[in-house]
Amino acid sequence: MPSKTDPPPFRSGYVSIAGRPNVGKSTLLNRVLGEKIAIISRKPNTTRNRILGIRNLTHAQIIFLDTPGISSGSFGHKAQKQLNRYMVKEAMKACGDADLILLMIEATRPWQDEDLFTLKNISRLNLPAFLLINKIDRVGKPSLLPLINQSQRQGPFKEIFPVSALTGHGVDELVDTIPSYLPEGPAYFPEDLITDQAERFLAAETVREKVFALTDKEVPYSTAVTIEEFKEAPDIIRISALIHVEHDSQKGILIGKNGAMLKKIGTLARRELEEFLAQRVFLKLLVRVEKNWTRNPKSLRKLGYQGPN
Ligand code: GDP
Ligand code: MG
Repeated sequence: MPSKTDPPPFRSGYVSIAGRPNVGKSTLLNRVLGEKIAIISRKPNTTRNRILGIRNLTHAQIIFLDTPGISSGSFGHKAQKQLNRYMVKEAMKACGDADLILLMIEATRPWQDEDLFTLKNISRLNLPAFLLINKIDRVGKPSLLPLINQSQRQGPFKEIFPVSALTGHGVDELVDTIPSYLPEGPAYFPEDLITDQAERFLAAETVREKVFALTDKEVPYSTAVTIEEFKEAPDIIRISALIHVEHDSQKGILIGKNGAMLKKIGTLARRELEEFLAQRVFLKLLVRVEKNWTRNPKSLRKLGYQGPN
């Protein structure tokens, strides 16, 4: 019999954050981890790869999987179904690996078709799920109770948390509740690790985020970034990144008049990387046309959008 003075058993496990694009999944992950590791954008679907972040508590280790937005239709423009299918598959894979799923919706636009589509997909996995109603900083209190009631009828959620990933409201309560839904077991990762993604990946994501922020229409969706060089010298990190696009015209847009656009992307990305890496950064950017990479499985693989299986 465990006595009152025994510490609670250590628990560890995987938690997937699912939800349609733009509900605030990356923002929540960043809030929970306290450092910016997943990229955030006002445009949907910027998180293509699943990102692993780890939160260590006294008696638990929570491993978060940020999933690409599950989307029933296409996004950006119609031609890119292949990439979209890949993203839904990745999202479901991340969820299938989990001990607990956090389904996120927006208090401002609750229960859209895409939310129901996501719910339908995760329900098939038969895993415990919490519902997170995010962005409560943008709605009045009176509308929250009916929304919680309505949400209870949508699915058998173990818990429902109204939160604001942006302000942090409700997030501590969420984090404190998660461990009781994880299996008993030792920590999977060393405690000083917050992410298993290499700094290279962070560099690529940062450049891609700037492309998203500064270009429109199909250009962001036709862009992939690979890191060709990542060299740490004592006083500076030298990074050379290749921006892949699908067409010559997109290359022109990204370079801009007299190279102005590329320079802007580079400057913003460098500043952010310097802040995150706490080091001076030299960032070199090149643009290359990779014809129709979003529709070509081989190119997708080459650019890192295909898992091991
Ligand atoms: P994701 O696509 O689900 O990963 O969504 P992001 O985390 O990239 O967030 C999409 C947008 O919603 C960004 O502009 C965020 O700043 C914003 N956002 C996220 N959480 C909140 C929140 O709690 N309140 C408000 N007002 N905005 C939020
Ligand atoms: Mg995201």
